Amino acid sequence: MSYIKLSKENLFYNLQTCANHAGGKEKIAIVLKDNAYGHGLLQIATLANEFGLKKAVVQTYQEAVVVEHLFDFILILADTQIDTFSHTFHIAINCLEDLSKLPMNTNVHIKIDTGMHRNGIAPEELEMALLTAFEKKLNICGVFTHHKSADEFTSDFFYQNTVFKGLKEDVKKICEKLDVPNILFHSCNSAALFRHQNFDEDFARVGIASYGYLDGPELLNFPKLKPVLSLYAKKIATRILKKGQRIGYGGTYTAPNDMEVSTYSIGYGDGFKRLGGKEYKTADGKQVLGRVSMDSIAVEGSADEICIFEDVSKLAQLHNTISYEILTSQNLNIPRKIV
Ligand SMILES: *Cc1c(COP(=O)(O)O)cnc(C)c1O
Repeated sequence: MSYIKLSKENLFYNLQTCANHAGGKEKIAIVLKDNAYGHGLLQIATLANEFGLKKAVVQTYQEAVVVEHLFDFILILADTQIDTFSHTFHIAINCLEDLSKLPMNTNVHIKIDTGMHRNGIAPEELEMALLTAFEKKLNICGVFTHHKSADEFTSDFFYQNTVFKGLKEDVKKICEKLDVPNILFHSCNSAALFRHQNFDEDFARVGIASYGYLDGPELLNFPKLKPVLSLYAKKIATRILKKGQRIGYGGTYTAPNDMEVSTYSIGYGDGFKRLGGKEYKTADGKQVLGRVSMDSIAVEGSADEICIFEDVSKLAQLHNTISYEILTSQNLNIPRKIV
């Protein structure tokens, strides 16, 4: 069996760091999409509620329903198939067509494309979007955007900010005419939040920083955070490998001398990907011997369990990817324990 430990202390530390920077817990919406970045949707939502957060962000309606009882406000990023009207749910409008898919009185947040060119309506369509939403009796609650490279030391961040700032003024003017009050404005993910010295938006949508990762060039001076998820695997069997015997599929590792090896219950079926011939040492310093199987790996020794990682950065580097990708690929069925 493999299992995941979730550190409540580290999660709270990260959330507090974000809240301090944003100017209060009410200024943070925790992003829980993709099973809370692989950590466990309900587990993280429950802890976030205990910490005192009132806002969350998810991808789908299905996710929102699971955590509805834990928050006052849930932004659904990309799902217009909603069954029932809810005061809690706020639906992101990613294109003009979305406006005709939603029932009357639905809370909507209009997403504007300020330079990422992925989702969101074009700035030129903004007035049309607001007027259409108003006509269709949707409840216009927010206008937001997303940064494409807040974690890189380039001018894109400033450019998108300037565009958004201008659009905010337009939104305020139009909404005043329509008599729609209290529009919420939000543009920041984790990295963008920490690039603001005086954060003045209604809230930030904080994902990766909650989970303890915030990578960026040193110049950006991001705070040091604490990984929340660590992954463990229990022993399946121990044997003595004789000098010259080879282990696992393809026999890619040859014992240099007689050695005790054990198999542990974790593999690519659980989200621990094949290493492509590269060397990986677990958090306890044990090298993975030979190929990763679907449900097991081999390492030297006979410990009852091993810690695959406490900080996923090294594994992400080895796979030439980002921590987000390794974290979100943790299999849903791995038991999660809160410590
Ligand atoms: C995923 C996502 C976030 C969170 O980004 P992090 O870099 O993990 O903080 C914020 N906003 C939107 C629209 C997202 O899709």
